[in-house]
Amino acid sequence: MPALDPATRQALAARMRFYRDLGLTEFYRRPVGPAILQSFTTVSEEVEPDLPKNFRAPSLATVLSSSRMGDHEPQQEPPIPPRKPIFTPPAAAPAIPATDRSAALRLILEDIGDCTRCALHKGRNKIVFADGSPNARLMFVGEGPGADEDAQGLPFVGKAGQLLNNMITAMGLKREEVYIANVVKCRPPGNRTPEPEEANTCSPFLFRQIDVIRPEVLVALGATAATYLLGHRQPLAGLRGRIHAFRGSKLIVTYHPAFLLRDPRQKKEAWADLQIAMRELGLQLPSRG
Ligand code: URA
Repeated sequence: MPALDPATRQALAARMRFYRDLGLTEFYRRPVGPAILQSFTTVSEEVEPDLPKNFRAPSLATVLSSSRMGDHEPQQEPPIPPRKPIFTPPAAAPAIPATDRSAALRLILEDIGDCTRCALHKGRNKIVFADGSPNARLMFVGEGPGADEDAQGLPFVGKAGQLLNNMITAMGLKREEVYIANVVKCRPPGNRTPEPEEANTCSPFLFRQIDVIRPEVLVALGATAATYLLGHRQPLAGLRGRIHAFRGSKLIVTYHPAFLLRDPRQKKEAWADLQIAMRELGLQLPSRG
């Protein structure tokens, strides 16, 4: 198959990210003809006329005219990975007393070390381990660091992070009270979705972090977090709106903040998910009416 030119590759990547945000993750590659490439310039308007403007997949023209649309906008994307297995999460480790949690987390960080276990290390500036309280009752899991996170070594400090902070505040909590981590700890090039090999290599450290924190409620932000936590691909729509039992915690799946930045209409749905978390944590829900 001939290599795609950078502009087409970028447009294709934006479209794939849009589908992934919707929870559609299974794709197959086939040869790309000129007619298909042409369709990238028009498909949003032709196929999705009923969708609100900001809910449509970006057209090639949009992608080419915008240099950056959010935390997950890539400069360049590799080809879409073929179907690969997702590791089944290992059994949960025994609970750790609150007084030992900081030391246990430090040990995980030491074990990660100056990691070169997967290819993501080549492009990283800083390993993004986590942020927040070792004694958090609520933990958020995202996908992977973006440019801001890679520069600062902290998760969710860019635009999506600002929205996550607002979500946490709306729940009546402070960011310092929760714990935040990602499926992968190094920034994927161009903010692409982590490859299964990268996520499978890094997720054991995330499972160890989860086992140390043992949050009452764990919120998976987006399809990638949900996939690698639960160990299988499933559309986000089928996972949202209910409580999953997970490693001794209650797992709730909601949209990734970067997706909500692209489609603010879904914030209402995300807020409904967060209210499930609030109810489970015994936090005061906003009064109706
Ligand atoms: N998106 C993520 O999934 N994680 C971050 O830390 C930042 C943006």
